[in-house]
Amino acid sequence: MSANLLLKPGREKSLLRRHPWVFSGAVQQIQGNPTPGETITLRTAEGQFLARAAYSPNSQIRARVWTFDPQEEVDAEFFRRRIRSALEQRQSLNLSAVTDSLRLVHAESDNLPGLVVDRYGEVLVLQALTAGAEYWRETLADLLQEETGASVLYERSDADVRELEGLAPRTGILRGSLPSPRLQMQEYGLKFWVDLANGHKTGFYLDQRANRHLVAELAQGRETLNCFSYSGGFSLHAARGGAKSVLSVDSSAEALALGQENAALNGLQANGLEWLEADVFVALRKFRDQNRSWDLIILDPPKFAPTAAQAEKAARGYKDINRLAFKLLRPGGFLVTFSCSGGIDAALFQKIVASAALDAGADAQIVGHLAQGGDHPVSLHFPEGAYLKGLLCLKRGVLPPP
Ligand code: SAH
Repeated sequence: MSANLLLKPGREKSLLRRHPWVFSGAVQQIQGNPTPGETITLRTAEGQFLARAAYSPNSQIRARVWTFDPQEEVDAEFFRRRIRSALEQRQSLNLSAVTDSLRLVHAESDNLPGLVVDRYGEVLVLQALTAGAEYWRETLADLLQEETGASVLYERSDADVRELEGLAPRTGILRGSLPSPRLQMQEYGLKFWVDLANGHKTGFYLDQRANRHLVAELAQGRETLNCFSYSGGFSLHAARGGAKSVLSVDSSAEALALGQENAALNGLQANGLEWLEADVFVALRKFRDQNRSWDLIILDPPKFAPTAAQAEKAARGYKDINRLAFKLLRPGGFLVTFSCSGGIDAALFQKIVASAALDAGADAQIVGHLAQGGDHPVSLHFPEGAYLKGLLCLKRGVLPPP
C-alpha cells in the first residue's frame, strides 16, 4: 500500500484539469512515511482517488503526477510506455532529415515530470531534476538504452532546480563509455561541437533549432549582430544564409572559443564573422555611442526571471536590451528577440518589447511569433511548459517625436 497525500477541501481543482503539480499549501495530511521520490496516492479531503504521484518533501511542489489512471501502477513497465510514447511523438515530427540531435523527453509535457533527455547522435544526455526522477533514475537509464538503442548515457543533473528538491548536482557517464565528452552534432547541414561535460543545459540550445533556421533565411546581405551568442548557433546560421557580416557578443570566453571552432568546422571563417567578449548591456551602449547600426539583430539572453517573483526586475532587463537594439537597427532591419524566463509569459514579453520600441522611437511591426521547437512540446494541461517565446520584429522607420 502506498502512502496517501490528502488535499485540503476543494484543492483538487487543478488536478481535475490534469495539471500535474500539488503545492505544499494544498496539502492537508500525509498518511504513511513516504521517502523522497516514492510513489504516493493523491486523494481529495474525502479520500477519493485523484492520481499517483512522486513525493517531494523538500520542494514547494510537494508532489508531481505520474498518472491520473487509478488502474495504472507506477513501475518499470509504466515508464517504458511513457518513454515509448515520447519517442513516437518525435518520430511523427520527422526531424531526422534536419538534425541528428533533439529532445526526446520534455518532462511534464511528456507526462514524465522531472525527466529531460536529449539525443546527440548515438549519445543520450539525461537530467533527473526532481525527487521522483531521481528515485527512478537507474530504471529510466536502463529503459532509455533499451528503447532507443543508444550506447552511451551521460548525466547532466546539475541544473539549479535540483537544489529546490533537496538534491545535490550529479554529472558524468551513466551508461557505456565515451572517449571524450566532446562530440559533434549537426542541424540543417551545419556542424557544431557540443561539450557534454561543461556546455550549457545538456550542451546545446536544441530548443532554438527552428529559429536559427529562420535567421538563416532572413540573413542574406545583412550586417548581423548576435547578442548572447553562446557557441555561435545563430551566428553560423546567419553566415550560412549569406549575412554580410556577423558580430557575436557573449560574456563567456569559452563559449566564444567554441563558436570560433564551430566556424572553422564549417569552413565559415572567411564569412565576416567577428567575436566579442563583453557584457551585452555594456556593449550595446558602446555601439550606440559609436553610432553603429545593423540590419539584423538577435537577442537570446539567459533566463532573467526563472519564476514570477523576479518578473519585474527581469522586465527592466529585457526592456533595456530591446530598446538599445531597436535604436541600433536600421530601417528595414529585423530584430529577433527572445525570453526563456518562466516568470514572463508571451503577452507580457510583447508588452515589454512594445514599450522598448516606443522608447527607442522605432516604428516596428511583429512579423512572426516564435517559440521552442516541437521536440520541446507544451502539454495543454501544463502551460508552464511554454517557456521560450520570441518575436520577429521589422523596423519600418522612426516614430515622429511626441
Ligand atoms: N543563442 C544561443 C544560446 C544563448 S544562451 C544558441 O542558440 O545557442 C545565453 C548566453 O548568454 C550564454 O552563452 C551566456 O554566456 C551569455 N550571457 C549571459 N549573460 C550575459 C551578459 N550579461 N552579456 C553577454 N553574454 C551573457
